[in-house]
Amino acid sequence: MSSAVIASECKRRRTFAIISHPDAGKSTMTEALALHTRMISEAGAVHGKGGRRATVSDWMEMEKARGISISSTALQLRYAATGDPDDFPHVINLVDTPGHSDFSEDTYRVLTAVDAAVMMIDAAKGLEPQTLKLFQVCRHRGIPVITVINKWDRPGQAPLELIDEITERIGLIPTPLYIPVGIAGDFRGLLDRRTGDYIRFTRTAGGAKIAPEETMTADAAAAREGDAWTAALEESELLAELGQDHDQEMFLAGQTSPMLFTSAMLNFGVRQLLDSIIEYAPEPKGRKAIDNVEREVTDPFSAVVFKVQAGMDTSHRDRLAFMRIVSGEFERGMVVTHAQTGKPFATKYAQAVFGRDRSTVDTAYPGDVVGLVNAMALAPGDTLFIDPKVQYPPIPSFAPEHFSALRVTTADKYKQFRKAIDQLDAEGVVQVLRNDVRGDASPVLAAVGPMQFEVVTARMKAEFNVDTVIEPLGYSLARRTDEQSADELARQRGVEVFTRSDGAVLALFSDKWRLQFIEKEFADLTLEPLVAAAD
Ligand code: GDP
Repeated sequence: MSSAVIASECKRRRTFAIISHPDAGKSTMTEALALHTRMISEAGAVHGKGGRRATVSDWMEMEKARGISISSTALQLRYAATGDPDDFPHVINLVDTPGHSDFSEDTYRVLTAVDAAVMMIDAAKGLEPQTLKLFQVCRHRGIPVITVINKWDRPGQAPLELIDEITERIGLIPTPLYIPVGIAGDFRGLLDRRTGDYIRFTRTAGGAKIAPEETMTADAAAAREGDAWTAALEESELLAELGQDHDQEMFLAGQTSPMLFTSAMLNFGVRQLLDSIIEYAPEPKGRKAIDNVEREVTDPFSAVVFKVQAGMDTSHRDRLAFMRIVSGEFERGMVVTHAQTGKPFATKYAQAVFGRDRSTVDTAYPGDVVGLVNAMALAPGDTLFIDPKVQYPPIPSFAPEHFSALRVTTADKYKQFRKAIDQLDAEGVVQVLRNDVRGDASPVLAAVGPMQFEVVTARMKAEFNVDTVIEPLGYSLARRTDEQSADELARQRGVEVFTRSDGAVLALFSDKWRLQFIEKEFADLTLEPLVAAAD
């Protein structure tokens, strides 16, 4: 495949994730984006909330029971600014971050697969805890962020208040691309700050269709909207005086964030969001390998596995590994090499998944997400390539904050239990810790979010038919230590020492006061912080 073709495929691709606190409107916006584009394929499970769309994922009972999606979705959308569905100069990969209120390592892994993030904020609520955490992860990984103030059709804060809050609390300077005309709760349209025009929206019944829009000159807008237009104009001028206009370099450097105002429910501002993603979000780029050499997008095929998912669907009890293509062209059937083992990996079963229906992916390019079926050997962070060899840096494992003992309750299932725990460990579902005192039969699980534990017990039952119970332990933080320090630490009250399956020696502490006390008392012990969730 010629590198010119790959370069042009990259040029028209954008790969991003929507990040938000639950209920800010991520699912509604995902549907709105799908409505404004043409869906090509969907890799992963789709979930529906609020009855607007049927739930097509039946991955796990737990998922159904809680009305949440633990599984990640990668939607591929075709989009043309002209609105002509047969003309699709752009391909958009929307990678879904887990939509539950819990925080897990999955979220971080998904964010390693995207080039930009859209941060959705509820106009009435402003910044919420999850928004802050997710934003810090984006900053940590250098992911540029587009900010969307959603639910503008409902009463909320003033635009300048929201802008101040974001600037002050996360140190990111919003540069609105559009200013809403009409206060929150009276969403009439948008002032396009680049053209100075007014885009007026018309509601459709239930927001089920693309909202018709009409573009007017500033004079016509002033005549029609009166004070609402004047207010928007003044806000725009004030922001210009403050220097809060879009600057592509500052956006890519993570200093500023283009901002939009939307109503995902009414489909207002959705086209503007799509256009902004196309215009400003970066196209797929090459990546640095562990030897520090950059693999360019036009180099031979390479990809990173960022998520492994099992038993998504009862009619397809298998394991899917999702990879993001970094370089080259992917053709189904080609045999690639698994960098971690050096073994060949056949890609005959490359698929895009739409609930129960799976479609085959024949070709894919950098930025695309492809699901590989029955990829038993693959784990998150692994590299696949076509010669020459490349291996990308591993996805860091984050500092766990929740610790539980896992115990099997059916005595004769010990062998399956061990097999299951090794499998879940390899997939990166949780971190598995062991020590001699507890023995192999009751490992300790360490997680970033407690829902990871529920996933373990549910999968133990569903896939291995092993009943287990989770017993929360009274530890809340971990430090990396070494063999020399381990004995002294193990003697301390409120401390326990473990070996993680990757060989790391970890000391768990009941709380930070206990840790501080021991650090003071035994200054020569090795106690290093792990990579924190949002360093
Ligand atoms: P998620 O948890 O971020 O995926 O949020 P959802 O998309 O499920 O939305 C949460 C709730 O807010 C649902 O009841 C939606 O109908 C509602 N919602 C989402 N977007 C809007 C919006 O733009 N305006 C209004 N009024 N409601 C919205």
